[in-house]
Amino acid sequence: MSEAISHFVNACEVIDVHEHHMAEVALSRDVNLLKLFQQSYAAWTGDVLPSEPKATSSIISAATEPTTWERLAPFLEKSGSNAFVRNLVRGVSNLYGVAETGITRENWEAVDTLVRLHHKDAKWPGEVIGRAGIKRIVTDPFLDPLLDPRPVLGESYDAVLRINAFTLGWHPNSRDHNGNSGHALLGRLGMEVTTFDDYCAAIRELVAGCAGRNQIALKNALAYDRDLSFDEPNVEMARKAWGKSSPSTAERKAFSDFVVDLFCQLAGQADLPVQTHLGTAIISGSHPLRISGLIERHPRTRFLLMHLAYPWSRDLLGMAFVYRNVWLDLCWSFLLSPSHFKLALHEAIEVLPDESRMMIGGDCLHIEETFAAIQGARELIGEVLSEKIASGYLRSRDAERLAIGVLSKNAREFFRMS
Ligand SMILES: [Zn+2]
Repeated sequence: MSEAISHFVNACEVIDVHEHHMAEVALSRDVNLLKLFQQSYAAWTGDVLPSEPKATSSIISAATEPTTWERLAPFLEKSGSNAFVRNLVRGVSNLYGVAETGITRENWEAVDTLVRLHHKDAKWPGEVIGRAGIKRIVTDPFLDPLLDPRPVLGESYDAVLRINAFTLGWHPNSRDHNGNSGHALLGRLGMEVTTFDDYCAAIRELVAGCAGRNQIALKNALAYDRDLSFDEPNVEMARKAWGKSSPSTAERKAFSDFVVDLFCQLAGQADLPVQTHLGTAIISGSHPLRISGLIERHPRTRFLLMHLAYPWSRDLLGMAFVYRNVWLDLCWSFLLSPSHFKLALHEAIEVLPDESRMMIGGDCLHIEETFAAIQGARELIGEVLSEKIASGYLRSRDAERLAIGVLSKNAREFFRMS
């Protein structure tokens, strides 16, 4: 019985609602084994602080260095117990034929050669996505928030409009944690902005243009730039920040609160969901309850709350029980802690008001890590559903219907995909 549901989950197609696939990384021809680790969450165990992944852009542009055992060992041995590392090791081992042993001091050179060879082949990314059973992908290409993904990544891609740079755009020189300037981005769209009112009009035009860029949602990743207490908009205070290179803390907050509120209002009118990062980032400000005011002010806006707000998944489930404009993107939570994910998924199945509320994504830069994330998610979802069947909570047919919902159907309906 329990094996049957796991086989079923493994055979389901996936609509992956969150990746960071960008041509600069996912389609790079210059990738080796070391680079896969350096450009993955495994790097967050070392020099990249989880609260400050500012280093992400420098990591992406850094030259490829030769793989050596000395460079791999800090990942494989020093941080070998970490779930990000375990996930990537498993994905790489499965894809490059060393599933029996994993990556070892004896085989790393052979694995490195295979990684380099496969990445020279333009068909490799598509092949890996196919092997993961992923049919469509929603990507957040944070290096270019205006990217139309289809000309570069293919027809199976849609994107999100990442709003961070615009919500911090009180001055042409103000930038988000990825280094993006809202003014520069609007300038690329031919929008001249000199006054605060121009800026608000430009934001309206920006959202109206989403469909034309194959952007099917907005993405709020401000948990990496500021705290998530988005207060009632105060337009007078927001105006005070305008044009200043260093506004006061209160003026900055008011400006960004105001623009976030405007985005949420426009998203509701345009029927675009708002994906929102919750949980670990700037951890003192990323508790999910901090955005409850924003959710309550915009009952017609659909919020897709991410990562099970780890480590506050129970608080998030409480919110998803109370608010009918909240859905959950489980991505990344199973990479942070597979065992916590299982516990939280058991509760989520019981607490959520209906079966439409959960979706999955990988949240990765490289296709190997995406492959590993989706494989891992299938396995964990299969285990939870088989436990739910074994305890008598669900019948097999109910578990199968739920699996199809979480893996693809919910996302297709939520994002109005054809
Ligand atoms: Zn992400």
